[in-house]
Amino acid sequence: MKNEIKMLIALQSFEDIIFNLTDSLEKIPIQIKALEEELSENKKEVENIENGIAQTKKIYNELDAKIKDNTERIKKNDINLMSVKTNKEYHAILKAIENLKLANSDTEDKMIAYLDQMEDENKKLKASKEKLVEAVKKVENKKLVLEKEMEQKKKELNKTVEKKNAKLAKIPSDILNIYNNVKKIKKNRAIVQALEGICKGCNLNIPIQEYIKIQKSESIKFCPNCHRIIYYNTSENTE
Ligand SMILES: [Zn+2]
Repeated sequence: MKNEIKMLIALQSFEDIIFNLTDSLEKIPIQIKALEEELSENKKEVENIENGIAQTKKIYNELDAKIKDNTERIKKNDINLMSVKTNKEYHAILKAIENLKLANSDTEDKMIAYLDQMEDENKKLKASKEKLVEAVKKVENKKLVLEKEMEQKKKELNKTVEKKNAKLAKIPSDILNIYNNVKKIKKNRAIVQALEGICKGCNLNIPIQEYIKIQKSESIKFCPNCHRIIYYNTSENTE
């Protein structure tokens, strides 16, 4: 095979590697961000439970204050009882005391329910915090792997760019121009193999007369269908 074709095949393979590495390198930070977002959901869950507990505590404290307030009123009424003048007044105060005691008993029941609720919420909080710790560990490990991968790929990319540049320096400019012009139009592959009468770029049959010319050719040939640079070889040689 012509040396120039070999050089173009090598150039293209370097460009393919560079394209893939660049693509992966762009995706890794997105993967890292997604991992961090996963954590923020875990953190939000902990925060929501903590807010719920604070809310329950607030209600509980309000009920507690209400009981203390009522207890004070009961004490005052007890004192008042000692100085009442009429029977009617006496019964009214007794009734008031009874109502305050009933109200306190009702409030106490509510407070017990809120205590149960807080116990459940604290259990949930503990589980949620444990889940967060686990998630942080997992995310940190995954991030470490991704960061290592990124470093490795950056090194690989630099090496490949060097190799590509070395190759570029050896390719005659007229040949390189042809390659670049095809690449501009075809985006991905500019040089493709012809195998068993088929162009590996467009997967279409090459007319037999053209195919014979490609097989024998010493000059650069193009696929009659997709106009990519085409070469004949039984195996892909990228050296
Ligand atoms: Zn083709």
